[in-house]
Amino acid sequence: MADSGRLPRPRLPAWIRVKVEVGSGREEVTALLRDLRLNTVCAGARCPNLGECFHRRTATFLIMGDHCTRNCRFCGIPCAVQPLPPEPDEAKRVAEAAAKLQLRYVVITSVTRDDLPDGGAGCFAAVIEAVRRRLPETGVEVLTPDFNGDADAIRRVLAAGPAVFNHNLETVERLSGKIRCRATYRRSLKVLALAAEIGGRRIPVKSGLMVGLGEDDSEVLAAMRDLRDAGVTLLTVGQYLPPSSSHWPLARYVTPEQFERYQEAALAMGFVNVASGPLVRSSFRAEELVGAQERVESEKTGEKM
Ligand code: SF4
Repeated sequence: MADSGRLPRPRLPAWIRVKVEVGSGREEVTALLRDLRLNTVCAGARCPNLGECFHRRTATFLIMGDHCTRNCRFCGIPCAVQPLPPEPDEAKRVAEAAAKLQLRYVVITSVTRDDLPDGGAGCFAAVIEAVRRRLPETGVEVLTPDFNGDADAIRRVLAAGPAVFNHNLETVERLSGKIRCRATYRRSLKVLALAAEIGGRRIPVKSGLMVGLGEDDSEVLAAMRDLRDAGVTLLTVGQYLPPSSSHWPLARYVTPEQFERYQEAALAMGFVNVASGPLVRSSFRAEELVGAQERVESEKTGEKM
């Protein structure tokens, strides 16, 4: 996958400052995850917010293993043709970790499992249900793969009642085929539209874009419009940072001012809440993002009363 002769990643600009948090929060989460044999996307994808999230005692659980059947060129998760089968007690272990960490909001994501007949939809449903049994007040957001566009898989996940259904569009249409593996721009939009239709207003639909992959700003705005047309109401936009020199090369560092312009444009298009910034990732401070949607919905309900 490595392209020889590529320029190394340009120096990090001053506005990309990763907070290095040390202390008991981070160590405790790390130890707990190890004891319960759980993976987090935070570690698997080398997320720059790992220190801050662990310190705040939150984590995005990565279910169904730590190897993916796809091999996207921007992603740090390793690939395997036939990963190990999902472990039947994983849902219970996630619920156990959420309870021990006293989480009020849990984000669940997975590697893509094209090898499983339902794409892993049943595993997502099992985790949502296990967390709800253990912590009835805790919201569970799911960040899913595209399930190859399978409506039954999407229906199964939504039937379990997640707080938010999230699926990332990742990039603009022109670059999608170059950097994503098997996923397509149009199919992801279809997945999101199906989720919005099936979930109705009960389950907000969220998506995320990375910038700095070679797109221009007009393409970013076009992708946002496509997401709104698909019924997406929550959006994240963050800076792409290549996990290594053999991944898709960085094209630019987007300035904080430009991230603010994306946010303003997205809100003007009708997104209910938008997190846009250099270190924003799809699950970073997810609970805060959905809070705005809940407020809007309860105001609407209040108006009708
Ligand atoms: S499908 Fe998701 S986890 Fe798998 S390689 Fe692509 S971005 Fe990474």
